Amino acid sequence: MEISGTAAIVTGGASGLGAATARALAARGARVFALDISVDGAPAVEGVTYLAADVTSEEDVQAAVDTAAGSGAPLRIAVNCAGIGPSTRTVGKAGPHPLDLYRKVLDVNVVGTFNVLRLAAAAMGATEPGPDGARGVVVNTASVAAYEGQIGQVAYASSKAAVVGMTLPAARDLSSVGVRVMTIAPGIVDTPMLATVSEEFRAGLAAGVPFPKRLALPDEYARLALSIIEHDYLNGEVVRMDGALRMAP
Ligand code: NAD
Repeated sequence: MEISGTAAIVTGGASGLGAATARALAARGARVFALDISVDGAPAVEGVTYLAADVTSEEDVQAAVDTAAGSGAPLRIAVNCAGIGPSTRTVGKAGPHPLDLYRKVLDVNVVGTFNVLRLAAAAMGATEPGPDGARGVVVNTASVAAYEGQIGQVAYASSKAAVVGMTLPAARDLSSVGVRVMTIAPGIVDTPMLATVSEEFRAGLAAGVPFPKRLALPDEYARLALSIIEHDYLNGEVVRMDGALRMAP
């Protein structure tokens, strides 16, 4: 699928993986709408318009989709990067999460992802199709935690497993309108999500990656997302981007 000349939605677009993807899509000629619950301090990037939106809100996401779909370019791309990732570090102690925290993580990471997927796909379905009847692609973000959650990650791992789980059935459901659904499961990426960890902890994380022995970069996620968007035969699949990281001994 051609990126140039399309409209694209990127959630979590003010920071980390979303910001890198928004920048990369704009550099390739897409008109990008970066949705984020907090757009203060988002970097000014040519071709990127920031929209304050909570991905869990039907109203917010519908308004953003309408803006993108009404921009004059066909809405063909939605990349779901908004997410929250509490662990023992943010919960404060190992042990079962409080119920309200569990619900909150699932609300943002699962319901938010699904909300954007369904509303963006509905708008894509109303566009004139391209070659093979293609109308668009949705790229979600899971995590290696979907397969091997760590101590303190019960909510996060559950949420990312749900994102993995929705990928294939959503792709099958949306095949009737020519919309593909893919998911990227990153390992450990150097973004503000890791801002609270110590240098020592960060070095330990990097040392645990088989190869390359470093954290992934947001631009590496963006490059993968763009490759997926352009590759018309990738559909219903989860791609791990983790340097062969396996947490278990
Ligand atoms: P980040 O914290 O830098 O960016 C996440 C963005 O999502 C923030 O700008 C935040 O404001 C936004 N956001 C949070 N809740 C929102 C809501 N309700 N509505 C709209 N926006 C909201 O984190 P990141 O590392 O770029 O993470 C992006 C995605 O990648 C997340 O889904 C995360 O779980 C996933 N991920 C990250 C890593 C990593 O190591 N950084 C690894 C695996 C998966």
